[in-house]
Formats: sequence, C-alpha cells, structure tokens
Amino acid sequence: MAEHCTNDRQPTFNKPKVELHVHLDGAIRIETILDVAKRRGISLPVDTVPALKDICTVSKPATLTEFLGKFNEYMHVIAGDRKAIKRIAYEFVETKAKEGVAYVEVRYSPHFLANTGVEPLPWDQKEGDITPDEVVRLVNEGLSEGEKAFKIKARSILCCMRHMPNWSMDVVELCKKYRNDGVVAIDLAGDESMNCEAYPGHRKAYEEAVKCGIHRTVHAGEVGPPSVVEEAVDVLKAERIGHGYHTVKDPILYSRLLKDNMHFEVCPVSSKLTGACDPDFTKHPLIRFKEDKANFSLNTDDPLIFDSTLDTDYETVKKYMGFTEEDFKKLNINAAQASFLPEKEKKDLLNLLYEAYDMVCSTGL
Ligand SMILES: [Zn+2]
Repeated sequence: MAEHCTNDRQPTFNKPKVELHVHLDGAIRIETILDVAKRRGISLPVDTVPALKDICTVSKPATLTEFLGKFNEYMHVIAGDRKAIKRIAYEFVETKAKEGVAYVEVRYSPHFLANTGVEPLPWDQKEGDITPDEVVRLVNEGLSEGEKAFKIKARSILCCMRHMPNWSMDVVELCKKYRNDGVVAIDLAGDESMNCEAYPGHRKAYEEAVKCGIHRTVHAGEVGPPSVVEEAVDVLKAERIGHGYHTVKDPILYSRLLKDNMHFEVCPVSSKLTGACDPDFTKHPLIRFKEDKANFSLNTDDPLIFDSTLDTDYETVKKYMGFTEEDFKKLNINAAQASFLPEKEKKDLLNLLYEAYDMVCSTGL
C-alpha cells in the first residue's frame, strides 16, 4: 500500500469501544507465531512476517474450507505450549487497548489449545500434559495480567465446536468452574450445517448452562439459513447471536427477534471474506439491521486471518453503509448493554461510555 500510511491516521471512531465477538486463536500476532516456532524448534514453510502473513490471511472472499485451512498453518505452533498460550492472551489485551477498546469478550475453544485430555488431539500434536482446563487457567492469567498492564477490561467466552459434540459438556463444566475468574459465557462455533438435533451433545451442554445461569451466545445465520438461528434461540436459548445475517430471509423470525431486542454480533469484514454475505457492502444485511434499529455490535471475528483491525470494520461501515458518529455511539452502548458482565460492572461500563460520548445526564449531585 504505497499511497498512504494508515498508521498515522485517526481511527474512524476515536472513542472507547466494546467488542463482543473475536476469537483469541484468530487474533494472534504473526510475529508471535514466528517467535514461538523458533523457540520450540518448529519449522514453518517461511520465516518472515510478510511471508507468513501471506500464508495465514485471506484477502478475497474464500470458501469455508479455505478459511478453516488457515488455522492449520499456525495453531500447532501455539497449542500445547504454556508460555505461548498465556502470551497470546496477554498480547491480545494490549492490541485491543491500542484499538481503543474499553471492554472485550474474547472467545476460544480450550480443546484446540490443549494437548491432552482431548479426543482427537488437534493439529497433529503429540500427546503432552496441557489439558483444556489448564488452557483456561493460562488464558485467564494472560488476560488478567493484560488488564492490569493496559487498563482495559477483558472477559472470555468458551467455545463448543459443532463437529465435536463430545467436547461440549467439558466446555460448560469449565464455564461453571471459572465463572468467577473471567469466563462469562458459552458459545457454539463451526460448521452450521451440523444441527443440534443430529448432535445432541451441544443441546445438553446448553441446557446445563441455562440451569446454572451461564450466559449463552451461538454462531448462527452466518453462512447457514434462518433455521439455524431459530434453533439457537428456541433450543439452545441463546441470548445473543453470532453474525445472524441470514435471519432477514425469514421475515417472521426476523421481526420476532427485533421485537425481543436480540443482539446480533455483526462482523462486517469477516462476513465478506468468509463468503457469508455478498461482497458488495452496499447490499449487506447490516444496512437492514440499521434501518430497522436492530440491536447489534461491530466486531473483528478473526483479525489475524482477515489482516484487519477493529478500525477496518468501522471504516468499512462508514464508507459503504453511511454509519455516523452517532450510530457508532449507539451501537457501542447496545454492545455494553448486551455484554455478559454482571449488572454492576455493566453499569460502570455504560457510565464510562456515556461520559466519553458526552451523553452524561445533568444529574451530577
Ligand atoms: Zn466467530
């Protein structure tokens, strides 16, 4: 990009932001992957930042297989290594602080970073001694040290994977175990063509989450049809929907969710590059969401793979969908309200935003 240097530019929305949908393992720094590979003696096909970036990112709309293949390029470097797992969590908080995020909920599958107590072992790893439980502890430590160092708030969401229903009960148990240590919710990610009728492990895990008061979000209606969203809401009792773009194809369901003020975690750049939505942003379902005053947030999803920052998403919707400063304030307040923080902390976060947005009521006494 020779024409201008984007680093010197002011962010599109230069005020505190809330991000609710971003994957820890899709937000690792290229430099860190290279560094850890060197330390562990793992050989990668290339050894420079630009060359590895080239391998790990998608720059034009891809298929789901191409997209998922990107994780194969680097996850074996980070998984099964205590220092690396803690480091990516810590660095994640630093990155978000630099992007002007005041509060972030970051999600990941503990099983994808473990090298024992997980069947099958992911990323062709050799059996080791890091369980999914220890992964959660390491991430919690990294996030909590990052919070102290960079003065923002970070919480985590643990992901079930659609193709691995046998992991899901573990995931909800980890949510319960670490609910007072930074874990705020359960998620279900992966290939939406695998519904929960055929894979009851997820349904059981979500039932347990409901029973124990664990918050719930579900990836649904990203690539899949509205029926996946309906299942997320009716069967899994999702309180937020990850993406949800294709909900608009079912007018009855869509108007019901609008009425219920369902929160949609919208990821504009991601939705183009994964092929979830028409690559023409002027036809994006987010325009409909905005017109209908739906409840939504703006999120990066997997910034490593999309070679993006949160500002890329804000810039995109400003440029192609006419989002204004007022729209940005409104959607961040919606995001704070839809966050999985306890009520008192949510109130504090909202007050922080109101103040930064000059929306304080004159009740100073
Ligand atoms: Zn996602």
